[in-house]
Amino acid sequence: MFTFKNFFVASTIEEAYDELIKNKKNVLLGGTSYLRMGNTNYNTAIDISNVSEIDKIIEKEDSFEIGAMVSFREIETNELLFNYFPVLSHAVEDIVGVQLRNNVRVGATVFTKHGFSDLITALLCLDSYVVLYKGGVLKLEEFLKEKQTRKDILTKIIIKKEKLKSSFQCVRKSKADYSILNLAISKNEKGEVRISVGARPGKAVLAYETMEHISKGFDKKAASEIIRRELIFDTNMRGSKEYRELLSMALLEKALMEVE
Ligand SMILES: Cc1cc2nc3c(=O)[nH]c(=O)nc-3n(C[C@H](O)[C@H](O)[C@H](O)COP(=O)(O)OP(=O)(O)OC[C@H]3O[C@@H](n4cnc5c(N)ncnc54)[C@H](O)[C@@H]3O)c2cc1C
Repeated sequence: MFTFKNFFVASTIEEAYDELIKNKKNVLLGGTSYLRMGNTNYNTAIDISNVSEIDKIIEKEDSFEIGAMVSFREIETNELLFNYFPVLSHAVEDIVGVQLRNNVRVGATVFTKHGFSDLITALLCLDSYVVLYKGGVLKLEEFLKEKQTRKDILTKIIIKKEKLKSSFQCVRKSKADYSILNLAISKNEKGEVRISVGARPGKAVLAYETMEHISKGFDKKAASEIIRRELIFDTNMRGSKEYRELLSMALLEKALMEVE
């Protein structure tokens, strides 16, 4: 369990940021599910749950905005979001149980860029952007590529509206375990395809070569060979590199059947 000396309740993101940069050992609190698994002693814990608007999913004319403190359960059950992007709900609906999904937050998840994340993989197959308090708006893909961790606060995710078909696929050893591999695909009305693969076990990436081949009408078998060659897979305690390579082919074929 993590501990802290002081507790600071921020009423604006600016207040939270000013507190965050005061000390290296100050920490922002999301749902704290992940923080509670560690044993770190922090100086000040910063609570942003009172900041207005960041716990909401807002539909705009051309986009959806998902606040940093929106829970996975809200992503799973929000009907407006589901109508456009069911892939997000499908990505989180099997994560552990309702109690955990009520607690874990979107901002903490995307900011920490964990390779095992199911939500990040689903967001990456959409036209998604992160909004950082200091860093401004960045394409999610560019944000994920950054190696250094910023001292910043993720305030919201923006997803540009598109009419598309999508699919989320993953394999877990047991229901409460992390994905051994996950894959999300979207196909818009122009026939453009985006394929993201996560838990390789590295961070989610887009499979550009495979996307290009599928957009040109290549068959599923050829595409699955390309994805296996194109992406870097590795071994960890959940699965071997070779197993992940084979899974990527199988999950791609399954996802393509769904969107077609
Ligand atoms: C038991 C367990 C099982 C899980 N299984 C899965 C799974 O199968 N698939 C999956 O995708 N995920 C899984 N997760 C991860 C989960 O989905 C979340 O990504 C993770 O818990 C972080 O969310 P949180 O709200 O708990 O963050 P916290 O623990 O509150 O914070 C995590 C980190 O993010 C920082 N932070 C919080 N908010 C912000 C912000 N707005 N801006 C910048 N930094 C911020 C915190 O300072 C901290 O360093 C699991 C988590 C747990 C605890």
